[in-house]
Amino acid sequence: MTADSSISTDVLDRIAGLGPEIIGLSHAIHDDPELAYQEVRSAARCADLLEAGGFTVERGAYGLATAFAARAGDNGPHLVVCAEYDALPVVGHACGHNIIAAAAIGTGLALQPLLDRAGLRLTVLGTPAEEVGGGKVDLILAGAFEGVDAALMIHPTPYDDYDSAGLAIEEWSVVVHGKASHASSAPELGRNALDGLVAGYSAIAMLRQHLRPWQQVHGIITHGGDAANIVPERAAATYYLRAIDMADLDDLRDRVRAALEGGAVATGTSVEIERVGHLYEPIRTNPGLAAAFTRACDVIGRAFTADPAGPSPGGSTDFGNVSQLVPGLHASMAVNSFPAVNHQHEFAAHCVSPQGDATLLDAVRAMSLTALSLAADPGLLTRE
Ligand SMILES: [Zn+2]
Ligand SMILES: [Zn+2]
Repeated sequence: MTADSSISTDVLDRIAGLGPEIIGLSHAIHDDPELAYQEVRSAARCADLLEAGGFTVERGAYGLATAFAARAGDNGPHLVVCAEYDALPVVGHACGHNIIAAAAIGTGLALQPLLDRAGLRLTVLGTPAEEVGGGKVDLILAGAFEGVDAALMIHPTPYDDYDSAGLAIEEWSVVVHGKASHASSAPELGRNALDGLVAGYSAIAMLRQHLRPWQQVHGIITHGGDAANIVPERAAATYYLRAIDMADLDDLRDRVRAALEGGAVATGTSVEIERVGHLYEPIRTNPGLAAAFTRACDVIGRAFTADPAGPSPGGSTDFGNVSQLVPGLHASMAVNSFPAVNHQHEFAAHCVSPQGDATLLDAVRAMSLTALSLAADPGLLTRE
């Protein structure tokens, strides 16, 4: 069953009128990037608009200062639309979370007066800290998804992939401890923490050839010592470990740990490994939501632009954990930017370009129609 066509027409008419406001929000967030858990102004911009649009808004929801929950509607299935708004260091909104936020808020504003007629309860949930930390896992643990029937979000990407996958990921903080000494007069009394870390880094680089498909490990050295004439007593790195499922992540964890410990043994140092933030699970796409979203994109006449290299499960999101808990869809929507890809300066520019704005409005239309399909037929969520 699809949504009642008069409601669909009404929501599309509303989106046409809301366009400038939705695009204005996207650009305002883009121009004022804020890092994970610090998205004070971005969250306020979203919450203000939703409040003005008739939602009951709880700011600082679920114990997170930069989360919010905007609720409307009191009958029918309960849909959560996720709004991410965190930026990246150095490259700003190079993951296009300004489009994610504006698309979620636009969907809320478009649907709000139609919710009772459609039979839908809607929460637009402001979800901080996707790039690091895992704000959605904080929200899950605080109960934000209890009693929720489905969760929906879009993500801008170079190409379209309406039922995109995603890898499990965990972040490690790695610290190698050595012993300081005079680098010239008494090097034999020192133990070089940087050498320990570099040996581990090199061992991981050699390990890569022998990993399973989609086991990935990438890291940066964040501290390498304090002065060239002091044998470094401390060196530090950040590593991300990714895999297609939890079994492969367990395997990768053991092998990367062994590589880092090997570097420490070889240099007489010691290594300390700590997980940072939450583990992100892989995305579990709901086939019914994916089909409804694809139909919605057909209805609005959106041309599907697939990656010529085929769909890729690369990347990770804390929406993975949401999708393991409730039926979910994380649709990748093209800003047609290739060869500019997420986390590049060039991609940030694409996310406020005319094409980026057009994708944003398509996202509002497609999510709104998908929400109406869910209201008309909650049975579409039945997992296959
Ligand atoms: Zn992102
Ligand atoms: Zn990103």
